[in-house]
Amino acid sequence: MMNIPFLDIKQINLKDYTEISQAIDEVLNGGWYIHGSRCKQFEQSFANYCGTKHCIGVANGLDALILILRAYKELGIMNVGDEVIVPANTYIASILAISANNMTPVLVEPNINNYLIDVDKIEEAITAKTKAIMVVHLYGQITPMAKVWELAKKYDLKVIEDSAQSHGAYYQDKRSGNLSDASGFSFYPGKNLGAIGDGGAITTNDDKLAYIIRALANYGSEVKYKNMYKGINSRLDELQAAILEVKLAKLDADTEKRRVIAKMYREQIINPKITLPQVALGEDSHVWHVFVVRTDNRDEFQKYLAENSIGTVIHYPTPPHKQEAYKELNNLSLPISEQIHREVISLPISPVQTIDQTSYVIDILNKF
Ligand SMILES: *Cc1c(COP(=O)(O)O)cnc(C)c1O
Repeated sequence: MMNIPFLDIKQINLKDYTEISQAIDEVLNGGWYIHGSRCKQFEQSFANYCGTKHCIGVANGLDALILILRAYKELGIMNVGDEVIVPANTYIASILAISANNMTPVLVEPNINNYLIDVDKIEEAITAKTKAIMVVHLYGQITPMAKVWELAKKYDLKVIEDSAQSHGAYYQDKRSGNLSDASGFSFYPGKNLGAIGDGGAITTNDDKLAYIIRALANYGSEVKYKNMYKGINSRLDELQAAILEVKLAKLDADTEKRRVIAKMYREQIINPKITLPQVALGEDSHVWHVFVVRTDNRDEFQKYLAENSIGTVIHYPTPPHKQEAYKELNNLSLPISEQIHREVISLPISPVQTIDQTSYVIDILNKF
């Protein structure tokens, strides 16, 4: 029997052992550990990769999203109590970023076929207090943006992307991070572009916003010891930046490996008990951060896969509006989101998963 881990992060990093070790060694011996040349270099490289004018490295993905909204408040464009539209089935960090700013998350149901916000349900959620639509390119797939842009224009709203799962995914000729007013990225180790620790970034084409975010993330100070804002400390350290620079160069090749596995799964899993994910746009619009299927009896399915040494994870078992942290949302009824949380399960996929391993998973799945 083969053993297929859900995600072998160690193996993913060891694949580039020599280059990563060298990067770590250079930072160690360079003697400069915060906001030096490595962070600057990575910010430049990642901005180029996304096609944006600016990239600001920060401590993690949650901070990236929090700082975007904070900066809009400093600019006077948003205020405490304003509403931000967000998909109901997102990872809770997107919603936490809104409530951390004392703004109100307005949850909109996802599309059952692609798990992205249902763009046809956004307009009915817009009120006089709405200031932004936060799209989440969940599981690695780009949200159909045309409708979002159209609504943002019609109602004068900002569009924010949560790109924590979608590094490199395309919508038409532009990449995730360059499809909105500002985008938050996470470099958590398990993300498609992962550090060896925490990391995050904001991309934007807005000069003013970039300037304020950069200051806010560094104690509210752009010039040392001169504080313009009541900022926070959220910085991408030199070590993580140097490692990310190495890994960014491999990202597109890694994504192609994920696409090969996803293609095999989509073509060869033929068990009617398993609902496969649909790709809403073109093949390059999905970077397969996770490969999510649905099934009626998930517990039994997960147990069966575990017995066959196949690792799985549930993204996510409980919807944000049913969490204890969001008592004020507990009474909401969001049946599509609730169904998704009951039925989804993620299969193994990664740049180090082999064709043989993938065939084994498919074989076991088809026998369920
Ligand atoms: C991982 C993730 C975040 C948060 O990123 P961290 O770096 O863990 O803070 C935000 N949104 C989504 C959709 C994520 O998957």
